[in-house]
Amino acid sequence: MKYFLMTIVLLALLTSSCSSDNGDNNTNQMDEEVESIDKTVNKKNVGDSANDLLIAENFQSLVVEIFYVEGYKPTNNTLSNFESFLSDRLHKPNGIQLELKMIASPGQDIYTISDIRAIEDEIRTFYNNGNELTVFGLFLDGAYSENTENGSVLGIAYRNTSFIIFEETVQSFSGQPLAPNITVLETTVLNHEFGHIMGMVNAGTEMQTNHQDVEHGRHCTNEDCLMYWTAETGEGLLNMINGGTIPTFDNLCLNDLQANGGK
Ligand SMILES: [Zn+2]
Ligand SMILES: [Zn+2]
Repeated sequence: MKYFLMTIVLLALLTSSCSSDNGDNNTNQMDEEVESIDKTVNKKNVGDSANDLLIAENFQSLVVEIFYVEGYKPTNNTLSNFESFLSDRLHKPNGIQLELKMIASPGQDIYTISDIRAIEDEIRTFYNNGNELTVFGLFLDGAYSENTENGSVLGIAYRNTSFIIFEETVQSFSGQPLAPNITVLETTVLNHEFGHIMGMVNAGTEMQTNHQDVEHGRHCTNEDCLMYWTAETGEGLLNMINGGTIPTFDNLCLNDLQANGGK
């Protein structure tokens, strides 16, 4: 028995010394470059990068890498609405850039949040680099695994620099009779999810007055505000949007963002 244990200890020592030797001896420039990217800074909790997004001190530019499944690309008007929304709020003197990339369908009808995290980990190419902050977005086919009969989820912000839009679900709601057009729905969901990444409501950006709809999590109590909870389910959003107007931050939300350094 003793001998057996000793063998295991020896083996363990040998294995660990071998692997560290290999690491030291085989390091080349390519490895060093890969190692210098710290992906963990982009994998924190929603709202953790709110201040870095809003102010210019640590990051002077922003790149939003937006992947879309073939057939589920956001409209050009949605993208330009989103760009204005970002530049209206974020201090990024060296610019805000959207990088669009098409991917093939991952091939599922239903996606869980861990499926989505795994897809991101496989396809994301931009991580924070120097004074450039990066955000990942995905316009996906299929539907969210947690959808309920009256709650079809349209989007989720799920990491400090990551969001998903269930574009097939968004398109199915915009196809309903009397529904707002696709650009209005896409822009609302996209801006709302990015609002969460900006730390709203009470999730990384501190409230100046109490306006959190605690019952519905990190949302605003004002039913006309972009951060009202119904903005991210299809059924809720059709009720919320009047006359095709895209909801914006109300003054309570704007006050919070400005107090946290935003425009
Ligand atoms: Zn929300
Ligand atoms: Zn609000």
